[in-house]
Amino acid sequence: MGYREIEGIVLGRRESFDTDQEIYLLTRREGSMQVRAPHAQASQKTYCGRLEPPNLLQTRLYRSRRNSRWTLSQLEIVTPFASLMEHPECRRHLWPLLSLHRDIFPEGEASGPGYRRLIEGLKIMQNSSVGPLLIVDRILVQTARQAGVEPDFSRCFFCDSQRSRLWRLRPGRGLLCERCFDGASASDIQFGDAVRAAYESFSSLAWEEVKNIRFNRKTLVNLESLMYRFFHYHLDISLDAYRVSKSLA
Ligand SMILES: [Zn+2]
Repeated sequence: MGYREIEGIVLGRRESFDTDQEIYLLTRREGSMQVRAPHAQASQKTYCGRLEPPNLLQTRLYRSRRNSRWTLSQLEIVTPFASLMEHPECRRHLWPLLSLHRDIFPEGEASGPGYRRLIEGLKIMQNSSVGPLLIVDRILVQTARQAGVEPDFSRCFFCDSQRSRLWRLRPGRGLLCERCFDGASASDIQFGDAVRAAYESFSSLAWEEVKNIRFNRKTLVNLESLMYRFFHYHLDISLDAYRVSKSLA
């Protein structure tokens, strides 16, 4: 038997067998944790919408044995972010962002600054007129740096050239300069100085300054798409490495 108290952001949930739900919480010290919420499918009264993503919760957990899963016994809302999901524009950008956090901060590994960054971003989304896309792009750029998967705009992956006005991302090959394009491929995405400038701004500016910068929507959409491709490329590689290490073990 064990108890503990932990604060976390609800990243998502899924129905589990019988009437329970599995809740994915992002925590500061232990990455994304999977917690069982007993009777959550039927008992709207007990939880009263409090388990909706991306609420920030203070929870009390218990488990009966050392290796069994932690189960929710009490919870209170620290910050109710779930109302953000009522806005279609916020919801569209937040779902992939929350699921990405589940992938890059595995259970048992501290999420470090990533935890605080997500909370700060959600607060700004809730309390200011800054568009969700700008906030999500900033979170993606900074998280990529923390995870060590940031795109390197300083040189071409193929020829090492350091100067290019136009770049192309080809999955599995990294960023290519304009001279190294060898025929378009449907999976390429191409972008120029505007995306690169946006990327560089987001990687160094504080939240307070981000509120004042202006990029056009197309630039922000392209940056978002570039960052997600980078994450998924690296996540696929680490997943492959994991499978290989499993097969050798
Ligand atoms: Zn090149």
